[in-house]
Amino acid sequence: AQYDAVDAGPTGLNAFLSVDRDGSMAAAKLVANAVSSPADGGDIAGVPVAIKDNLATLTLPTTCGSRILEGYVSPFEATAVRKLRDAGAIVIGKTNMDEFAMGSSTENSAYGPTRNPVDRSRVPGGSSGGSAAAVAAGVVRLALGSETGGSVRQPAAFCGIVGVKPTYGRVSRFGLVAYASSLDHVGVLAQNVFDAALGVEIIAGHDPYDATSSARPVPALRQSAVIADRSQPLAGLVVGRPVEYFTDALDPRIRAHCDAACERLRSLGAEVRDVSLPHTSLAIPVYYVLAPAEASSNLARYDGVRYGQRAVADGLREMYERTRSGGFGAEVTRRILLGTYVLSAGYYDAYYRRAQTVRTLITQDFERVFAEGVHVLFTPTAPTPAFRIGEVSDPYDMYLSDIYTVTANLAGIPAMSQPIGLVDGLPVGGQFMAARFDEATMFKAAAALE
Ligand code: GLN
Repeated sequence: AQYDAVDAGPTGLNAFLSVDRDGSMAAAKLVANAVSSPADGGDIAGVPVAIKDNLATLTLPTTCGSRILEGYVSPFEATAVRKLRDAGAIVIGKTNMDEFAMGSSTENSAYGPTRNPVDRSRVPGGSSGGSAAAVAAGVVRLALGSETGGSVRQPAAFCGIVGVKPTYGRVSRFGLVAYASSLDHVGVLAQNVFDAALGVEIIAGHDPYDATSSARPVPALRQSAVIADRSQPLAGLVVGRPVEYFTDALDPRIRAHCDAACERLRSLGAEVRDVSLPHTSLAIPVYYVLAPAEASSNLARYDGVRYGQRAVADGLREMYERTRSGGFGAEVTRRILLGTYVLSAGYYDAYYRRAQTVRTLITQDFERVFAEGVHVLFTPTAPTPAFRIGEVSDPYDMYLSDIYTVTANLAGIPAMSQPIGLVDGLPVGGQFMAARFDEATMFKAAAALE
C-alpha cells in the first residue's frame, strides 16, 4: 500500500521514472521529414525506445532509482544512447530500476516497484525491471538495460521477452553510472531475437571515451538472427549443457522446459552434450564479494558536493553523513558496508584477493569448454518464475535469483535469455552463453530456437 502514492504512469506498471513527451514528438517529426519511406531510415528510425535510468541522457534526469540523484540531469549523454538516437530511435523515457542496479526485482527503487505486465501482483525482475516491463507491455520495441550480474537477462525471463548482455568491451560503458566497473555491461531488451541483435549491433563498437571498449569490428549481428534453412539450421553446432546449472535449486517445471528446448535444438541439427563447469557453485559468493567491493569505491562520489541531493548540516563531516544516510536505501547501504569490509586492511586477502582468484577459475571453466569444441552453452536463466511483490524478503534469498546469470558477468562472455515456455501462465527463460565476442553464434542458436 505504501506504493499507491507513486504515479504509476499510463500503463499502471510504474515502469517509467520520467517521460519526454515534447522531445519525443519533435524527434519523431524530424525523422518523419528526413525519410520518405520507412526503409530509408534504417531499421530503427522512428521507433520508440526506453532507457534504464542509470544511462546518462541530456534530455531527462538520470536518478539510478535513488533519492540521492533525484532531479539530477547529466551534462553528457551515454554513448549507447547517442548511437540509438543517431540511428533515428526516439528516446521516450527513462525506466525504473533497483537503486544503483542493486537488486533482482526492482523493489529496491526509491520510487516504488515496477509491476510485471504478465501478472501485476508479481515483480518484473531486476534491476532493469522498468525496461523489461516497458518492452513486454508493448510500450516500446526496444529498451536499454544494464547488467552487473544478470539484470537484463533475469527480468527478460520474468517478463517473457529477449534480453542480451554482450561481451565485456563490446559496448561502451561511457555514461553508464558505475556500479561494479569490471562486471558492468550495457544490454538490450526486445520482443524478439532479431530486434535484440539489431539493438546490440547499433550500440556496439569502439568508443574513445571508454578505454575498455574493444576495437574489434562489429559483425552484422542482425544477419545471424535470420534463419534461412528452416530444417537443419543448427547442423554442426555443438551445444553444451552444464550439469551444474541443473541442480535441486531449479524448479522442476523449468527444468522440463529446458529439456524440451534441448530436444528442439537436437531436432534443428545441433549436437547437445553435457559439460561441466566445476566452479559454478562459487559464483554467488565471489560476486557478492567483488560487486560490493567495487560499488563501495564507485559510490564514494555521492558526497553531497558533486551530484544530486545535499543535506543541510553544520560541518562537512555531518553533511556527508546526512547526505549519504538519507540518500541511499537499505540495500545500497548494505553493499557499501559489505564492500568496505572486504577491502579493509585486515580482511583484503581473506575475501577480496581470494574472490579474484576464484573469479579466474570460473573464467577458465568457460574457456576450457569453448576450447573443447562447444560453441554455445544452454541453461535456465533463473531458478524460478517471477515471484510476488514482497514475497522474497531475505537479501540472501534474493541474491540466489542470479545463480545462473552472474557467471557470464564474472567471465565477461556474451549471454542472453529468451522465452522457452510458461509455468502457471508465467514466462520461463532459457539462456545461451557463448565465447567472448561470439555474439553471432549465440544469436544464430537463439533465432533457430525462437
Ligand atoms: N541482482 C544482482 C545484484 O543485485 C545483479 C544486479 C545487476 O546485474 N545489476 O547485484
